[in-house]
Amino acid sequence: AKSRGRNGYQFYSRDMDGEGVERLRMEALLRRAIERQEIFLHYQPQVEIDSGRLIGVEALVRWHNPELGQVSPVRFIPMAEDTGFINQIGEWVLFEACRQMVRWDEAGLVVPKMAVNLSVRQVERGAMAPLVSRALAATNLAPRRLQLEVTESVIMNTGDALAFVHELHAIGVGLAIDDFGTGYSSLAYLKQLPVDVLKIDRSFIKDIAVDSDDEAIAIAIIQLGKSMHLSVIAEGVENEEQAAFLLRHGCTRAQGYLYGRPVAPGVLLEEWGNEKNE
Ligand code: C2E
Ligand code: CA
Ligand code: CA
Ligand code: CA
Repeated sequence: AKSRGRNGYQFYSRDMDGEGVERLRMEALLRRAIERQEIFLHYQPQVEIDSGRLIGVEALVRWHNPELGQVSPVRFIPMAEDTGFINQIGEWVLFEACRQMVRWDEAGLVVPKMAVNLSVRQVERGAMAPLVSRALAATNLAPRRLQLEVTESVIMNTGDALAFVHELHAIGVGLAIDDFGTGYSSLAYLKQLPVDVLKIDRSFIKDIAVDSDDEAIAIAIIQLGKSMHLSVIAEGVENEEQAAFLLRHGCTRAQGYLYGRPVAPGVLLEEWGNEKNE
């Protein structure tokens, strides 16, 4: 972090350290990022492992600021959650992701499903269901082509999670539990919810073939999904060995660098537009 101005003057009070200044500056820039069109989406393919068929994409938000360069969502999403700005970002992401599905449709690439991440703050705030309905109505996207991803902690710690999940289910959109295995889901609670997908967290996939504990956890999640009639997808699949392991244990779907990095919509169209997707 910068501690001095260009001429060596200290331009802030002593008790505000460089990091604090940096953060305030970043927060201020983030608040204007949507209107300045610095926020955009990349899309990462989700595939059926054995056929390589495209089954969906996950929308991942990106921020490019002229001064800061590319800022990772790992940095700016928590910041946006603290300031409440996540609600505007989240709304923009939802609408843009739905619009993109229609653009691909028109360009001849039918992506079966769009997965969109929701922040805990969006769910806590309530009124997600009407927002989702508006996004679908505005774009004329079929509800079954949209899937919302929330982490386990959102489900477990939000007072109104039950209502939230049932409202989304009633609209007809899918729900995936993200980073599954890293939180503390009560299985009894989960069982009551109309959830569609468990996403095995990348941390358990990473050391497949290296760490037998992680292998055991991955297998347990696959089994759990089976017995609860949920579809299971593994995230962070980077090599064939991991893919083969998953397939061997009954997980047929995956997302990860092995199949494709998050890319701009035009790149996804180029890569999946013709032969690959029939
Ligand atoms: P996530 O939802 O768990 O998303 C998966 C992250 O793993 C993405 O990082 C993706 O680029 C990365 N990834 C995918 N495949 C691989 C792989 O094979 N290897 C490795 N090493 N990484 C892989 P990204 O795009 O940096 O996003 C980080 C996190 O930021 C997301 O984690 C999610 O929690 C949050 N995020 C991203 N977009 C949004 C959004 O639109 N809304 C909200 N609320 N959060 C978002
Ligand atoms: Ca996700
Ligand atoms: Ca995830
Ligand atoms: Ca993860």
